[in-house]
Amino acid sequence: MSELATLQDLFVDQIKDLYSAENQLVQALPKMAASASNAQLKKSFETHLSQTQEHVSRLTTILDTLGADPKGKVCKAMQGLVAEGAETISEKATPAVKDAALIAAAQRAEHYEISGYGTARAFAQQLGQNEAVTLLERTLQEEKQTDELLTKLAESVINIKADQGHTTRK
Ligand code: FE
Ligand code: FE
Repeated sequence: MSELATLQDLFVDQIKDLYSAENQLVQALPKMAASASNAQLKKSFETHLSQTQEHVSRLTTILDTLGADPKGKVCKAMQGLVAEGAETISEKATPAVKDAALIAAAQRAEHYEISGYGTARAFAQQLGQNEAVTLLERTLQEEKQTDELLTKLAESVINIKADQGHTTRK
């Protein structure tokens, strides 16, 4: 058990949690992409995979600077979110309905990350660690953009297609 004596300790702890979360997503996103039917959705998962790999490397840079070991913390919330994503992947569903479900799962993960990065950036700001602020801000913006892209894709294409099932429902 690591002791949290200072805000700096808590900052390190939060970055390690994000590092675990991002690494779990690196494993999960290819499966989400493989499970998506819509080409744009598949592409957006693939694009976010390469962004996520960059997110891991930014966190590694921050942990290096802090002299902290990236290992030793498991993000349990992301384990749960990834488990729900896996459940979605294995669900028997109409392709467009499954796409809508994949977006639902992915956006839960994005919102979790947005929350984590917002907190981490605020801590870095308070601690005057400007390089970390810049890196965390960059990732935060990419998470927000991904979330917005998924909303747009859901509302303009996927949800409409998923709802077309009602005309052929048996
Ligand atoms: Fe990320
Ligand atoms: Fe993300």
